[in-house]
Amino acid sequence: MKVCVIGSGYVGLVAGTCFAESGNDVICVDVDHQKIEGLKGGVIPIYEPGLKEMVLRNGEEGRLKFTTDLDAAVKESLVCFIAVGTPPGADGSADLQYVLSVARNIGRAMESFKIIVDKSTVPVGTADKVRAAVKEELDARGVHIEFDVVSNPEFLKEGAAIDDFMKPDRVVIGTDNVRTAEIMKELYSAFMRKSNRMLVMDIRSAEMTKYAANAMLATRITFMNQIANLCERMGADVMAVREGIGSDSRIGYDFLFPGVGYGGSCFPKDVKALVRTADECSYDFVLLKAVEEANERQKRILSDKIERRLGQGGDKPLAGMSIAVWGLSFKPRTDDMREAPSLTIINRLLELGATVQAHDPEALTEAKKHFGDRIGYHMNQYEPLKGANALVIITEWNEYRNPDFDRIKTLLVNPLVFDGRNLYQPGRMREIGYEYHPIGRNGAA
Ligand code: NAD
Repeated sequence: MKVCVIGSGYVGLVAGTCFAESGNDVICVDVDHQKIEGLKGGVIPIYEPGLKEMVLRNGEEGRLKFTTDLDAAVKESLVCFIAVGTPPGADGSADLQYVLSVARNIGRAMESFKIIVDKSTVPVGTADKVRAAVKEELDARGVHIEFDVVSNPEFLKEGAAIDDFMKPDRVVIGTDNVRTAEIMKELYSAFMRKSNRMLVMDIRSAEMTKYAANAMLATRITFMNQIANLCERMGADVMAVREGIGSDSRIGYDFLFPGVGYGGSCFPKDVKALVRTADECSYDFVLLKAVEEANERQKRILSDKIERRLGQGGDKPLAGMSIAVWGLSFKPRTDDMREAPSLTIINRLLELGATVQAHDPEALTEAKKHFGDRIGYHMNQYEPLKGANALVIITEWNEYRNPDFDRIKTLLVNPLVFDGRNLYQPGRMREIGYEYHPIGRNGAA
């Protein structure tokens, strides 16, 4: 099938590459010339495990092309995916300017029947706006060309994006046209190995499904963070509690790890957007408003603990202290730092007067865009520890799970670890002489 994917970011590039991998002819489009020139030369703009090899292979085999020429890509394709960003606007609602601008471009370029697919996360009712934008352009050209608009939200996780796309738990297809549903099913049939769940539904339900999924996951994380905070005050161990509740088949174990608050390019903005959507139809979504507020507070948990333990009062209670940070990306196996808790935590530590020395296996380049020369950056995970007053773990990269604790002790001024991801056993840490502050594990052996 001939497919174009407009927007070659985390979602568009992965989707386009996976469609090419399953034998389709794919053109990935972006407005960012540098990104497209890089991709043509085999330079992958993001870190995503397995992506580079797949882009190169499909490029060499002629199934995957890159261009900034949207018109040509649309003309050649039957299915046009819109996978551009939908960042939060000033009031928290999803900013649709990029999606609608692409829709208008498609309307200006198309010369034959197209299936236009909203892959970006967009609020309920967006497909109608996309349809209207395309139609307006066709009318302005004085032509009548058939087209259909589909909602096909994406559920991939950064860090496991290829696997998620190639073996999805389900594919949601929102359409009211039987023929279009068949074409979409054909496109996705190659990926139905793990489950055969191709869920065809009406467009509005498909649009809502994506927000409901992210809001549910954000709520689950936040619930567990608050249980952890309570465990900490009550002398209970949240990891034991997780085992205890997860074994209930109605609850399950996934997504119950407490931490420093959710971040990333999706949960924060999608929760905000759903709250705004609810507000717009006069529904007060009190639960999600509380989730948002609790998550903001959770991002302050580590810096508050550090201030309480090391602070010396005054305006700059951490003046003269150096804090080593492990992990900057919002989660492991990605370089994405959008809304990463590390941004809040490090900014707060700097405000409190500390100097910060950081390591991350993949996100240093991204981090420099946020912090400039306000913090130190290290390629080696032990480097930031030299002369530091404490180690703070923000992201659970695998390389932090079994570090050389003897070496860490020789480098730190105090054997003091604040762990936002509960990577180590509290009892074992005490045995080897560390003062260890995990999340919600005061009662742990
Ligand atoms: P991104 O910012 O990584 O990529 C968007 C790309 O679109 C950029 O490369 C940008 O240059 C390009 N672009 C913007 N305007 C354009 C235009 N007019 N024509 C062509 N290209 C244009 O964003 P992303 O993380 O891939 O997210 C895209 C959408 O998918 C968002 O709605 C997001 O909520 C949703 N989503 C993201 C994830 C994720 O994990 N990142 C998962 C599921 C859904």
